[in-house]
Amino acid sequence: MNRMITRVTIPTLVRIKPGALARSGIYLDRMGHQRVVVFQSKGLPNGIIDLLRGALADSKIEVVAWNEVNDNVFEHAITFFRELHDRPTAIVAVGGGKALDMAKYVAFLGKLPFFSIPTSLSNDGFCSPQVSLTIEGKRRSLAAAMPFGVIVDTRVCAQAPRSLSLSGVGDLAAKFTAIRDWKLSFHNTAEPVDDFAALLSDGSVHAFMASPQLDETGLRQLATSLMMHGIAMEVCGSSRPASGSEHLISHALDQISERPRLHGLQVGVATYWMSLLQKQSSNDIAELFAATGFWDIVIEDPFLLPEWLEALDKAPSIKPGYFTVLTLPGSRQQAIDVLNSDHKLRKCFKE
Ligand SMILES: [Zn+2]
Repeated sequence: MNRMITRVTIPTLVRIKPGALARSGIYLDRMGHQRVVVFQSKGLPNGIIDLLRGALADSKIEVVAWNEVNDNVFEHAITFFRELHDRPTAIVAVGGGKALDMAKYVAFLGKLPFFSIPTSLSNDGFCSPQVSLTIEGKRRSLAAAMPFGVIVDTRVCAQAPRSLSLSGVGDLAAKFTAIRDWKLSFHNTAEPVDDFAALLSDGSVHAFMASPQLDETGLRQLATSLMMHGIAMEVCGSSRPASGSEHLISHALDQISERPRLHGLQVGVATYWMSLLQKQSSNDIAELFAATGFWDIVIEDPFLLPEWLEALDKAPSIKPGYFTVLTLPGSRQQAIDVLNSDHKLRKCFKE
């Protein structure tokens, strides 16, 4: 019977509020951490770095090493892991996705608790059990552990470029098409759907859609909703609740595009496109994108249509055996037809 028990790891400490960064030393200290290794994104504003340094100093937390991260290369993560001398008791990362992923992987290898401090909410990676690293130039999703602590300073995130928060909105919207793809897989291949994970994912996006703002209050909900995506993935042990055909297209774009764009901007447009193909939720997604300004930022700098058509062809081969709407016969031509006939979608592209 033990095989039937669902075991999941969720963050023990969660603080999502204005001023949380300045209190991070207090949170670490309360958890008994006095020696930490810090990873930060290269080029992070000095004000943010000073806040963290001050917070750690105020709580007399020793920084064993302070690393700047400029890439998400797997081999560099291994080097950081090798350099983990002077046993720290926790790993702390502040900044964007690459620094968070590198630190999360180093913490996973070192079996150390990881404290995730995103300074923008551009995707759901700040609280997920996976990392995105490149191995020999190819982007890979690797298993890691959930963060022990998630500290989101909504005042800091509100100062990030608006495009980053909108990227988070795009990544959040992916739930609509991802869950639909999961159910399609169930009907076509009998892959089981984890009901609770699907519900968590569903509830998370609707909570943000009830008041889709990008001010401090809205970002608090966006952070919470993105975090629930990560936890839904942990609950079912796969990326199914948050990643379907729309993510396959985005991953294909990352490989072929001359100028890959923010993950969530690619994913958001692909989500709307795939929803038209799935014939579900397109109006809800369009309304969410209109209310937040997602459409505007995409139309300001449209995507290249030929690259997206190539990505459509390549998408099913990104994860062989991963059943999505794009696996269905005739889906490629139908996808092109809906793209040509939907004026909102057409405006996202240039020839
Ligand atoms: Zn994503």
